[in-house]
Amino acid sequence: MVSDEFSPNPTENPLTQIVFTSNMISFNQEELLSQFPILSVKVHSNKRLVYLDSAATSQKPEVVMRAMNDFYEHANANIHRGIHALAELATEMYEKSRQKTADFIGASDASQIIFTRNTTESINLVAYSWGRKFLETGERILLTQMEHHSNLVPWYMLAEERGVKIDFIRVTDEGELDLEHYQQLLQTQPALVAFTHMSNVLGTINPAKEMIDLAHQAGALTLVDGAQAVPHFPVDVTDLNADFYAFSAHKMCGPNGIGVLYGRKKLLLEMPPFMGGGDMIKKVTFEGFSTNSIPYKFEAGTPAIAEGIGLGAAIDFLTSMGMQNVFDHESELAAYAFEVLTPIPGLAIIGPAPDRRGGVVSFTLQGIHPHDIAQILDREGIAVRAGHHCAMPLHQRFNLHASTRASLYLYNTKADLDALQQGLFKVIDTFK
Ligand code: PMP
Repeated sequence: MVSDEFSPNPTENPLTQIVFTSNMISFNQEELLSQFPILSVKVHSNKRLVYLDSAATSQKPEVVMRAMNDFYEHANANIHRGIHALAELATEMYEKSRQKTADFIGASDASQIIFTRNTTESINLVAYSWGRKFLETGERILLTQMEHHSNLVPWYMLAEERGVKIDFIRVTDEGELDLEHYQQLLQTQPALVAFTHMSNVLGTINPAKEMIDLAHQAGALTLVDGAQAVPHFPVDVTDLNADFYAFSAHKMCGPNGIGVLYGRKKLLLEMPPFMGGGDMIKKVTFEGFSTNSIPYKFEAGTPAIAEGIGLGAAIDFLTSMGMQNVFDHESELAAYAFEVLTPIPGLAIIGPAPDRRGGVVSFTLQGIHPHDIAQILDREGIAVRAGHHCAMPLHQRFNLHASTRASLYLYNTKADLDALQQGLFKVIDTFK
């Protein structure tokens, strides 16, 4: 019998011990780091790994890997179908993760949590299912200039197919949404406003609640891309009053291959299935089929079961850390990043001041290509990302082809940012 051992009880997790230092909260860093074995690997002949690429994907704590391994060792079976001990156990574990996910984001009912592969699939699901059923030629959608390609391309595809019109809420020079422009665009009576909760390039945290409120007043529905939000600060979809909310497990200490779409119940009930196959049906005859209840209606075929269980373990882990603590830690690091990076000659950070952003800091270094920067930093053991970060239109908005991005998570420290500063001085020396 599998016990709950691998889903740590938040109250018993030693990592919850919080160390108070000079009016700020920081984690018991040593114990925390010991939870992430990969952070002790050495790269490039014995260099300490400085991982500053968590916006691309986060590292995984041992509890998550153990939960998935335990599932395969003790409970592996397909879910929802088999009437045998393992099948029932696997189903129970998987569904427990769904409930944990609902609780984690404040959804009132687990049936509103659809498991997908990732944020991208969650957004595509809405564009295909809701978009193709409810949007007519000439209707409008509002996006923003700071969207990731996964919240652009599905809508472009829909626009091409259906003749739907897309408008973009402008981004100011400071890297924030122009809310006056947003209010003007709302007068065109869009059917949907789809925007990111936090930019994966600028770090900007958008005023989601206010934006959703304004959208609703104008009669529009809302979809929030929470890929960079749910991993980093407390999110409550009920408080936000979001209609759809999407995120990925792999950016929040969980495994690859599982993502989440939260949807308002009424909408999910009205929407047709996204894909057809096993599990999403109630009945199939030679004449046709009837659909299963939500959320199963949207989950055709065998899902990523171990990954779902891994997501549950990641949620337990983050809950035990406290999401407000995660945010406070990253905010402090973001402020420190500004402190160490701004004195570097020729360096320009894109996006708002540290008190209005999360732990993502993208920058340019005059005369040096971001790919060269990333390559030289890599030789020092520092992992950053260079390029357009799947936000080409946003880079175009700032007249850039590319930028270098350092992105932070709960396991990063000020020492990581000191290493980044030193690494950047080396980059400058190399190009002198
Ligand atoms: N939206 C944002 C804001 C992101 O940062 C990302 C990942 N970089 C995505 C969507 C897509 O996430 P995934 O690749 O997990 O679907």
